[in-house]
Amino acid sequence: MRFTESFIPTQREIPVEAENISHQLMLRAGMVQQIAAGVYAWLPLGYRAHRNAQQIIREEMNDVGAQEFHLPALSPAEIWEATGRVAAFGDTLFHIKNRPGLVLAPTHEEVIAFIARAHVRSYKELPQTWYQIQTKFRNEPRPKSGVLRGRQFTMKDAYSLDASPEGLDASYAKQEQAYRNIYTRCGLNFFIVGAASGAMGGSKSQEFMVESVAGEDNVAVCDNCGYAANVEAAQSQTQRVNFATSANESPEEIFTPNIKTIDQLAQYLKVPAEQCAKSRVYVVEGAPVLVLMCGNDEVNEMKLQSALGTGTFRAATDEELAKFTGADAGSIGPLHLKTTMRVIADRRLEGAGGMISGANKNDFHLMRLVFGGNVKVDAYADLRSVAAGEPCVNCGSPLRIARAIEIGHIFKLGTKYSDALGARFLDADGAEKPIIMGSYGIGVERILASYIEQNNDEKGIIWNRALAPFLVEILALNMSSELVRTTAMKLYDDFHANDIEVLLDDRPDVSAGVKFNDADLLGMPLQIICGEKNLKNGNVELKIRRTGERIVLPIDNVLTHVQKSTTAA
Ligand SMILES: [Zn+2]
Repeated sequence: MRFTESFIPTQREIPVEAENISHQLMLRAGMVQQIAAGVYAWLPLGYRAHRNAQQIIREEMNDVGAQEFHLPALSPAEIWEATGRVAAFGDTLFHIKNRPGLVLAPTHEEVIAFIARAHVRSYKELPQTWYQIQTKFRNEPRPKSGVLRGRQFTMKDAYSLDASPEGLDASYAKQEQAYRNIYTRCGLNFFIVGAASGAMGGSKSQEFMVESVAGEDNVAVCDNCGYAANVEAAQSQTQRVNFATSANESPEEIFTPNIKTIDQLAQYLKVPAEQCAKSRVYVVEGAPVLVLMCGNDEVNEMKLQSALGTGTFRAATDEELAKFTGADAGSIGPLHLKTTMRVIADRRLEGAGGMISGANKNDFHLMRLVFGGNVKVDAYADLRSVAAGEPCVNCGSPLRIARAIEIGHIFKLGTKYSDALGARFLDADGAEKPIIMGSYGIGVERILASYIEQNNDEKGIIWNRALAPFLVEILALNMSSELVRTTAMKLYDDFHANDIEVLLDDRPDVSAGVKFNDADLLGMPLQIICGEKNLKNGNVELKIRRTGERIVLPIDNVLTHVQKSTTAA
């Protein structure tokens, strides 16, 4: 592609609408243009990278035996009603005003089950994995972060159909390996976290993520062993506390006037905050539950949900606190409660002695509490959010808390969709059973934005060979020089004839400085600089974008050098 014959807009100014570095660079390099909120046009340069990502995905999907479909974006609402997902998606699902009964699909589990119902008859036809690379729609209330969270986007979605749970395990493992291959080939530094399945249902899911300040998730990461988990689920090595001074301690009441917080209490008694147990009362399905935390540790409500086995809970109101405990929020503790209630304590408190907590009497606390001794605890559970620097649950190295972008999500769905839509098969005994499904998604735009988040410098994008719109950019520095013009054109034709993807900056009225800057902004792995001085000696300069390294080469050697070069991988 030649600049003079192409549509390659570049803007050197930082676009005002840019919200993160990848969005900024994609706009400046003319990869995308915003058409409406959350709606982007992919311009030629961007779409070449987009297609490269698609092709890598397609090859890896085909490699594990998945078959490519092309399913409609328009979907009958009734199949979404059948699985309860019109309600589950709520306003995120686009409905069509002048054609009621059709929705714009944000994902395709329902359609896959619908097709499977018509085509799969016997266990002999299973397993199957079906996939597509297609446009998806989500009515994001606040689209943001450029192409990372749009209302229209491209997704690779795959669905496995199996006759047994073991079959699902095998299909899932194949997809997991394909995902690792895809992200590795794309040059992404990624990690995998276990995740809550949310609205998808099913037994197991994993998220593939890349670390980036542009991310929307907080993840605890161990750089030593690779442990990674969303902070809602992350664990660290439990640092239990114990302040016992003798084996048999009995509680002692102390006057603590106007002490409301753990910090005030610790300061007043001149003890560490960890020696104080914080009490929280929740109303769980109508009944009060006392939750005890160590020091200033906060209750992580996702973990509390797992510990309680229900999501139906809320913090008690001030009136309820007084009714259940006899005290206000600052003076609540595990002993002398007015209402008998279940007591759940964080693991750090297991066996802790010498502890201090509220006396359930305003302005009084109790000292010398022993968890599992004079304080009866119904259950200990991991209830706290991990903090940066805490020891990794696997290896003890300090954890980091990082922002991360989700680039893929794989789910073991089970039979939720096949049950709802009647997608069944006959097993070896002739019994009719629902097909066991898995679902596997990758956001194509997210691959590109994440890649740029991880591969840029102050000058622009740094592409690798796998995703680069072009492997080589030729810079014809001074097009009014006959020597520069003819050499650049000849090299361009030679590369083209040898199937090397090449971009030629042959703009006649643009200075060398602008061409250098634009080439660094667009970020092709290799630049071939045709300047008059080198050409007079029969040479051109080859620049590696990632390292900035420049090599002077004889013109006749450039093609073979590029063909052999792996330095710009
Ligand atoms: Zn570790």
